[in-house]
Amino acid sequence: MSMENKDAIRVILLGPPGAGKGTQAVFISRSLGIPHIASGDLFREAQSKGTELGLLVKSYMEKGELIPDEITVAMVLERSAAPDCKKGYILDGFPRTIGQAKALDKALEDKGDTIDKVVYIKVSDNELLRRLSGRWICRDCQTPYHIVESPPKVPGICDRCGGKLYQRADDNEKTVKNRLSVYSSQTVPLIDYYGDAGKLVEVDGSQGIDNVAKAILAAVNPSE
Ligand code: ADP
Ligand code: ADP
Ligand code: ZN
Repeated sequence: MSMENKDAIRVILLGPPGAGKGTQAVFISRSLGIPHIASGDLFREAQSKGTELGLLVKSYMEKGELIPDEITVAMVLERSAAPDCKKGYILDGFPRTIGQAKALDKALEDKGDTIDKVVYIKVSDNELLRRLSGRWICRDCQTPYHIVESPPKVPGICDRCGGKLYQRADDNEKTVKNRLSVYSSQTVPLIDYYGDAGKLVEVDGSQGIDNVAKAILAAVNPSE
């Protein structure tokens, strides 16, 4: 680890769509005091603002295909260079390909930095389908809810910011199946990539939200 950033902590949350990456990132971000960077959230924000990036990524997202590495890497590296990321960050949904992982490693290495931990959240396919079909997202802050597992206090309204909740267009059964198959072919290789680097910690994501959070915090706690 570099001298100037030895108290920084950089964590990757790895796992299939619906594993609970977004849900858990909210907890870790709060407890470690570092920002949550979700590539999917950044793309959705670009779409809702109608930027050039938003227009460019729309058709990929609708189909559940990955956005090309150059675009994704540039967007995430720009975000992670912001001042609030000096003490580290939690990456959620990035990297998703070996190309993205190598680009990230290279960018960090050039600054004398590194990824500390990669938390792999493991959940069965049946459970993923159940989770995604009941998922509702805040239009404004993108916090995920579940109609059964973690409903908002007031139906249709975000507990955190009061925003309206909606169901993502790509959470329909057909697109979810495609996202799961894209995950198997393009993202699963990262489990070995980070395993070989000695950074992978596997967490049983089929437990309740609070127990998953405890397991992740234990795995990333810098004092351990
Ligand atoms: P990801 O970011 O990995 O796609 P989310 O955090 O959005 O996943 O979670 C997917 C859905 O599953 C959401 O509706 C969320 O409320 C719900 N969920 C998350 N973690 C759990 C859990 N441990 N048990 C049951 N449901 C969960
Ligand atoms: P999930 O619930 O599957 O974790 P995300 O919000 O992370 O969903 O991603 C939604 C969509 O955004 C993906 O299906 C893909 O089109 C795009 N996307 C997000 N992150 C990446 C990435 N790292 N590389 C390429 N495309 C991405
Ligand atoms: Zn909100």
